[in-house]
Amino acid sequence: MNITGISVAVIGAGTMGIGIAQVAAAAGHPVKLFDIALPAAARALEQLGQQLRKRVAAGKADAHSTEALLANIQLANSLHELADSELVIEAVAEQLAIKQSLFRDLEAICSPNALLASNTSSLSITAIASALQHPQRMAGLHFFNPAPLMKLVEIVSGLETSAETLTTLQALAEHWGKHSVHCRSTPGFIVNRVARPFYGETLRALEEQVADPATLDAVLRDAGGFAMGPLQLTDLIGQDVNYAVTESIYHAFYQDGRFTPSLLQQELVAAGHLGRKSGRGFYRYGSEHTAPQPVFAAAETAELPQAVTLQGDWSALAEFAQLLTRNALTIKHPGQTSPVALIDDVRFMLTNGRKASQIAAETGTPVVVFDLAVNYQHAPTIAIASAVQNSAAQTAKVIRLLQALGKQVIHLPDYPGLLVMRTVAMLSNEALDVVSKGVASAADIDNALRFGVNYPQGPLAWGKKLGWQHILATLENLQSYYAEPRYRPMPLLRRYAANYSGVEY
Ligand code: NAD
Repeated sequence: MNITGISVAVIGAGTMGIGIAQVAAAAGHPVKLFDIALPAAARALEQLGQQLRKRVAAGKADAHSTEALLANIQLANSLHELADSELVIEAVAEQLAIKQSLFRDLEAICSPNALLASNTSSLSITAIASALQHPQRMAGLHFFNPAPLMKLVEIVSGLETSAETLTTLQALAEHWGKHSVHCRSTPGFIVNRVARPFYGETLRALEEQVADPATLDAVLRDAGGFAMGPLQLTDLIGQDVNYAVTESIYHAFYQDGRFTPSLLQQELVAAGHLGRKSGRGFYRYGSEHTAPQPVFAAAETAELPQAVTLQGDWSALAEFAQLLTRNALTIKHPGQTSPVALIDDVRFMLTNGRKASQIAAETGTPVVVFDLAVNYQHAPTIAIASAVQNSAAQTAKVIRLLQALGKQVIHLPDYPGLLVMRTVAMLSNEALDVVSKGVASAADIDNALRFGVNYPQGPLAWGKKLGWQHILATLENLQSYYAEPRYRPMPLLRRYAANYSGVEY
């Protein structure tokens, strides 16, 4: 099929439908837009025109291409007017019965060669397609909001979707300037499933009173390298929307503990504290409120440590090793053991899901653990936790060194796995489950998270860089600490960590 000029129909002119119509029209397709509420479709198209022409007036868009885009979109007054459309994309209410009935009607109206796509975010494509005589030509085309801006499209195949349908949709997504990934129809597809721990672990830390929201967000954002902290982000998405997605995935996986929704978030929803849209969520919005600041360790005046000695295998943390020794890199006992820096007498090590105090009890030395950062050279912030056995001077020495290296230090309570490390361990564990079940490829999962939710690294690339053994150890330690199935390592993680054949994926 020559995809460049194919005619497209979009059904549903709400938030997603009008955005999808814009994407297709911008790529030069003639687009018909239909909504059961005809005036709503007309209003949506009028608003799109106003918004795009405003950009032209502001010198941000070209008048000619804007008018061409708008001329490409025509309103349809009935489904029958979509009879000659070669691709129909549905973005109507998220209800199986409504979508099935719509596709049944479309099959009777459109050509047998027309492709049918649904923008559903939570319904099974297999179930929607079961209403069709020819389910081979139906797939999910999951755009992210706002559709014209977000780079990712998940192309979702149901049990009967044909390879030809997928190939055409992939070519179309590319033609639209989107990055497409493919997955089988399973709850949450890729992004909404693999991203759950990003929210879940920080919500849990808040519930366990590890720190206030601004401090927790600062660790994920300024050390972890995520564009926003999870609590900030859920305020933007809407607590109700984010909670509903978690709850739907939790139930879709038969109440699997790794998706358990947060009671704290449920409480926010119950109170109507939905985030930015209601003026209050984890934060308060409006000019009368100043944004709360993270709690950083006060500037230390203690003497700088006399010596920093590195031991073990620092290859996964090479940039941090360089920073710690200020590029005078000598590793005293290189080898296969976990990386440890001796800062004078204090053991300084990446958290592996055990409390600093536990390690101190076993080694008989003072211990400070640090959290994962996406890039230790550039991250402005680093989070640490210290053993209760440490003297104040011992911990102060480590903070002094980190501050001298230009870092703002967040000194958390002795929380196992800290924040970024446990989040990345959980993200990569979930991603490995998706790989092992044949739902999506490793490359598509990483791209989905990078382009769909702007993660600084794909969870699998991140896990691999860090070392699967460290991810496994972190999860095993968390599982043993909490005695909860939530942290259970996936079988593929165990296989990669054992690395029997030297081949990962
Ligand atoms: P919305 O409520 O903004 O718009 C839905 C539109 O569909 C409304 O204008 C409504 O009048 C129309 N509609 C309802 N039933 C119809 C029917 N039978 N025939 C024709 N039109 C009908 O919803 P939305 O947020 O745009 O979501 C639409 C779909 O996209 C849902 O399946 C949703 O899960 C999915 N989705 C939403 C988002 C998001 O962030 N909003 C992101 C990705 C996917």
